[in-house]
Amino acid sequence: MKHNFGAGPCILPQEVFKQAAQAVLDFNDGLSILEISHRTTEFEAVVAEADKLVKELLNVPSGYSVLFLQGGASLQFAMVPMNLLGDAQTASYLDTGVWATKALKEAKLIGNVNVVASSKDANYTFIPKDFEIPADSAYFHYTSNNTIYGTELFEVPKTGVPVVCDMSSDIMSRVIDVSQFDLIYAGAQKNVGPAGLTIAIVKDEILGKIDRKIPSMLNYQSHIDNGSMYNTPPVFSIYVALLNLRWLKSKGGVAEIEKENKQKAEALYREIDRNPLFKGTCAVEDRSRMNVCFVMENAELEKPFLKYAEEQGIVGIKGHRSVGGFRASMYNALPITSVHALVEAMQIFEEQQA
Ligand code: PMP
Repeated sequence: MKHNFGAGPCILPQEVFKQAAQAVLDFNDGLSILEISHRTTEFEAVVAEADKLVKELLNVPSGYSVLFLQGGASLQFAMVPMNLLGDAQTASYLDTGVWATKALKEAKLIGNVNVVASSKDANYTFIPKDFEIPADSAYFHYTSNNTIYGTELFEVPKTGVPVVCDMSSDIMSRVIDVSQFDLIYAGAQKNVGPAGLTIAIVKDEILGKIDRKIPSMLNYQSHIDNGSMYNTPPVFSIYVALLNLRWLKSKGGVAEIEKENKQKAEALYREIDRNPLFKGTCAVEDRSRMNVCFVMENAELEKPFLKYAEEQGIVGIKGHRSVGGFRASMYNALPITSVHALVEAMQIFEEQQA
């Protein structure tokens, strides 16, 4: 078996893969999950249970709707301003990386955008801290985990305006207080399920406040009104997400997985900081638990280390092209034994260089 540190689509629990494979052959009474109607009572039960589990695992208060959408987080970059930003209004964005930049680019097509702070000049190696959010902003948007650069915001910035968060790469990895957010969205392909599904958690009262005709597929309200079945939903992706949510619940939920994620991150950062061959690329206080970015002091050793790691069954650690070096993504389903395997590979490689 491989140690899969890929950034996404990513590892899911082995038992989820097995159950998903079984459902492809026989989900219900000899029918495959791939051939049933989304209008069957069996699939309606899948959506209902997935909805219940998202609410339970994240402790979603009443007044919020959970939506199962398509189009990836990238479609949310456009749907958020279409639904929440009036033509003459301004939305505030925190620029912490490529995904934040892409989000605000879409918002600019819809209304005005105020970038409250950016760490672009430092290749996004830290999270800007001192910024002001104008009180008349339609909303404040930020990315909680910057998948490419390996930075994460653990505290929700204080604002007096609605908060919208792209949680694509850290949703379900740590406990959050949903009541601090007005809209959360996440492409599922990290901690929730396979690609093809996007989760949105919307505070109902923020909708319907702007004067714009929104096409139905892009309107959160039509998805809420139709229980995520305005059109044919991504049936298989939702089913696999449900299997994964059941797995997470059986592990003790988000608080338990957070403990494991902390242990995994600590183990790898400890080795990066100890091993003279390696160094982390981000400000220590902003280090992500999900995506650990690091380089080698001697860049010429990077290819040989990558090769050595691959020989040990360690895959997916090549860094994003804009950062270089390595990125070890450690989503919920990655066992700590895989992190130990990577740490050991770093130690043996160090010995080999001595
Ligand atoms: N936001 C973040 C934080 C991401 O990591 C990604 C993709 N990895 C996206 C947005 C874009 O997601 P998608 O491919 O689902 O559109």
